This record gives sequence, C-alpha cells and structure tokens, in this order.
Amino acid sequence: MDVSEARALHDDVPVIDLHADTPKLMHRMDYDIAEHHERPMPRRINYLGHVDLPRMREGGVAAQIFGMWTWPYPRRGCAASVHGQLDALDEAVRRHPDQITWAITDRDIRAAQRRGAIACLAGIEGGQALEGDLDNIARFAARGVRYIGLLHFSANQLGYPAYGLGADSTRGLTDLGKECIREMNRLGVVVDLAHISRQGFYDALEISRAPVMVSHTGVLGVHQHWRNIDDQQLRAVAEKGGCVGVIFARRFLGGKSIEAVVDHIMHIIDVAGVDVPALGSDFDGFVVPSYGLEDVSMMPHLTARLAARGLGPDVLKKILGENALRVLRDVSPTRAADVS
Ligand SMILES: [Zn+2]
Repeated sequence: MDVSEARALHDDVPVIDLHADTPKLMHRMDYDIAEHHERPMPRRINYLGHVDLPRMREGGVAAQIFGMWTWPYPRRGCAASVHGQLDALDEAVRRHPDQITWAITDRDIRAAQRRGAIACLAGIEGGQALEGDLDNIARFAARGVRYIGLLHFSANQLGYPAYGLGADSTRGLTDLGKECIREMNRLGVVVDLAHISRQGFYDALEISRAPVMVSHTGVLGVHQHWRNIDDQQLRAVAEKGGCVGVIFARRFLGGKSIEAVVDHIMHIIDVAGVDVPALGSDFDGFVVPSYGLEDVSMMPHLTARLAARGLGPDVLKKILGENALRVLRDVSPTRAADVS
C-alpha cells in the first residue's frame, strides 16, 4: 500500500485522533485553525503548529478530540481556562460551519465526514479543571466535553500523577476521584487514564462501569519511560473494552522516526489485540513529533507503514478510527433531560 492508497483508505473510515492541544494556541495565541500553516521543518524546533483544518483534510483526518489543558500545577482559574478554550472552538465552528462542526457521538462523526466537515470533539487533560466540584463535569459535558483525563503533571483533588509534583505509583484515587468516575459514568463522559499513577489506573478500571481510554501514551514493552504503560495495563484496558491512543512524540517512543510509532502500535496488537490501538498524536502539545509524522497532513504515511508490517485494511481501519468510535458509542452521553 503506497501513501496515496493509504490516503484513499482514510475516506472509508472516520480517522480520529484522540489528543491534540490546539485550542490553547487558538485561545492564547490567536492561532487560526482554518488557515493552512506551513509544515514545521524536520530537525527544527517543532513543538507547535501541527494541526489545522486544511492539513487535516490533506491527511484524511475526519475527527479530532481536542485536549483542553490547564496549568498542571495547583492554581485557581482552571475551569475558566477550559471554558476559554471551548469558546475558541465554538468561535471556529461559528466562523467556518462548512469546515468544522461539533460532534458528540460516533454517528455525529460519520455524518460530519459525509458532508465534508471536520468533526470537533473536546477532552480535558487534568482533573484540576474540575476545581474539586463534580458539578463541573455536567457543565463541561453540556459544552461537548467527551473525556476527562483525571491527572496531568501534579497531584490534584482526584489522585496522583505518574510523573510530576506528588507522583507516587502506589497511591490511587482519592474518595473524590472515585466519586468523579461514578459521575462520569452516569453522564457518559469517558474516563481518560493518560498521566495517572499506576494504582490510580487500576482503581479507575475497578470502579468504572464503562470502557476507558488512554488518550495519548507509549508502551513500556517497546521503550522504558515513565510516561508509558505496561502490558498488564494494556490487557486491563482491553478487558474493559477500551482503547489506547499511541502518542507521536519522539521522547516517549525510544526512536525518532515514524517506525517507532508503528512499533508501539504493533506491540499493543501483540499484547492486547486489534481492538485496542488508536491514534493519540499529542500534536500541539509542546512535543516534537516523530520524523515522518511532522504534522497531521502526514497521517497517511503512518497508515502505509502499518500496512507494510502486514496489517490489512480491516485492522488498519480499527486503528485509524473504529476502535475509538466504538468507545465513544459505548460510553453514550446521558441526555440532559435524563440527569436532571
Ligand atoms: Zn499529556
């Protein structure tokens, strides 16, 4: 399968990426997502500017879950920061209704793809955005938030991170963190286990009645790094019907090229099966993407490399979109009328 054949395959499935931090740029740096930005040059500092609508169309990416992140250390104003980033997405949707549209369900995503618009979804990175108030989950969900990552780089009201301030692999979720999972289950908000302590990871899986995501991560089976998760964690996510988005950031992968991304995806398949891997680029997240995947327009190159490892179209479609769409379908948002 060459790159143009890979690009053609992208039209047969809604390709979805689980994590890109673009709204912060839109909110704070007036980054216009509808404008075509130059691809960052290889081997240059390349932390930001990986995603915009024209390059998503080029790369055949139908949907993006945009990560809203707030300052990952204790500070006030986290909820307001998330609302600001949601405002920036609202503004883009209002200005370019033919190009980008909000999506909540897997059906919304397919409908957007049919009419040629990019589906925009939102996720939150770091439970500090709730500011200790679980009512904020419903407020965010009402604005389109589909997942909440409980931790980021510091301990918060919900638990402890895998790395950063207060990191402790043996400490699990707080009582509020456990309650948070129940409330997310009730509202149909996906639990995202990126960045969480190992014990917190297992606590969340034990409590959650719904499938979970790890929105952006590498795997320890390929590269030893604090950011990555091990085989047992992969199998636990699989048992729960969840999915794992593989990150494109070089520093976590143990190799600098696109082949390293492929290695991590193949390892997930070997350990946990074809229903688990997904895409979790972390584009625009102050990380340097792999060579060969410098921005979202390069996505068909990844598909072609995966095909070169022997994966057929059915498995490729699962990785590119269907696994993530299944989780979005299985964690169905409760309608406002049902929860009041
Ligand atoms: Zn992250």
